[in-house]
Amino acid sequence: MTSLLVFFIWRLDCLGQLNSMLTIEKYSFGVGDRFAHQAKSQLAGCVQALEKGVEVVPVWNKSHREHTTIGSEPSSVRQAADAAVASLGWTKSHYVDADHINMGNVEGFLAHSDFFTIDVADGIGASPEGSAVSDFLSKHPELVGNIAIPGIAEPFETTEAYVTEVAAKYLQAVKDAGQIYRHILEKKNGTPFVPEVSMDETDLPQTPPELLIILAALADEGIPLQTIAPKFTGRFNKGVDYVGDVAQFEKEFNDDLAVIAFAIGKYGLPANLKLSVHSGSDKFSIYAPIHRALKRTGAGLHLKTAGTTWLEEIIGLAESDGDGLVLAKDIYAEAIGNVEALCAPYAAVIDIDRGRLPSADDVRGWSSAQLVAAIRHVPDCPEFNQHMRQLLHVGYKIAAKMGDRYIGLLEGCEETIAKNVTLNLYDRHIVPLFIGE
Ligand SMILES: [Zn+2]
Repeated sequence: MTSLLVFFIWRLDCLGQLNSMLTIEKYSFGVGDRFAHQAKSQLAGCVQALEKGVEVVPVWNKSHREHTTIGSEPSSVRQAADAAVASLGWTKSHYVDADHINMGNVEGFLAHSDFFTIDVADGIGASPEGSAVSDFLSKHPELVGNIAIPGIAEPFETTEAYVTEVAAKYLQAVKDAGQIYRHILEKKNGTPFVPEVSMDETDLPQTPPELLIILAALADEGIPLQTIAPKFTGRFNKGVDYVGDVAQFEKEFNDDLAVIAFAIGKYGLPANLKLSVHSGSDKFSIYAPIHRALKRTGAGLHLKTAGTTWLEEIIGLAESDGDGLVLAKDIYAEAIGNVEALCAPYAAVIDIDRGRLPSADDVRGWSSAQLVAAIRHVPDCPEFNQHMRQLLHVGYKIAAKMGDRYIGLLEGCEETIAKNVTLNLYDRHIVPLFIGE
């Protein structure tokens, strides 16, 4: 029996099927490390979780936009991640995510990433070619009518017109995802990777019935999807808490989990397919509902943060006092002098009230404790200023331009920064999401 199984696995392997699959664990946590200096202190958060008996594997994510802004190469993310893993003796998996890639920029990531976030938001709303929509409808009569899904109280009621409309809106994006996926598959030439499809960077959220239709289409496209990042209801502003109806979010999140479990069985998608929440960092008020849903259903989760670590670098610099504090104030002064330019690319995901931004001169006079309290994300702290925090979140270009001065102080203040990075990821993110305390 055993030898038969071994033979079967060997045959599959020969066919290249095992090689192209890499199965991501149930809980994974995306971390951004813009200046490639915090991988070790980020990983320390996962080490602490493991000590509590909860395995949360790290995924280092960095987008083409971040690389372009900073002037870094995808290889640097892989190097920093592997070095951190070796240094802390981490024996669980770790991944490097080519975040929000498309056909135009995936090339530089191929050699270094084993997780690809295929961003097809641009294809949403584009007209699919030829008879794609009617072909999809003929193939999926089950999507029209009364769809009862275990875990969802009220069955979805859909009409042919509705499914046609949704298919017309998303099919081109799905076809794009297939094209990019097959391109990566070919270029990776047997080296395994995790495919994610993201649709979060668009105007309107995808509802649970839309998600079901999208998953059916992605399955038709032959993508062995392991994580899917829809756009959720509410605002996901950069670096600050969720803005929206938390109860509505919780309902949709639970319905999404039920839709995914249903689609896995119905359309043969990978059994470990899970939601990926592109958080824009720090969506604390939805963490408890997410945790409850994961506990109740046993579902997995991938949650991405990116800029939260860069903000901890500023907090750590400010907390170090001396040259670190001066540098943090210089970064703020530059940021407030360039609000328009810094905010323009992020207009859809920030809400900054200019009137609530203190002047550079005011901030010059602040103590280390004052600046730290204004930026550190403790929403009920009276000194916390979400406007300053959002502005600094999008201001990492300033630090990139400072070059050696910034990197030198990152290294000089390493101990204080590392402490903040680990505490932030573990206490404010990993614990409420995956451990639940
Ligand atoms: Zn995203």
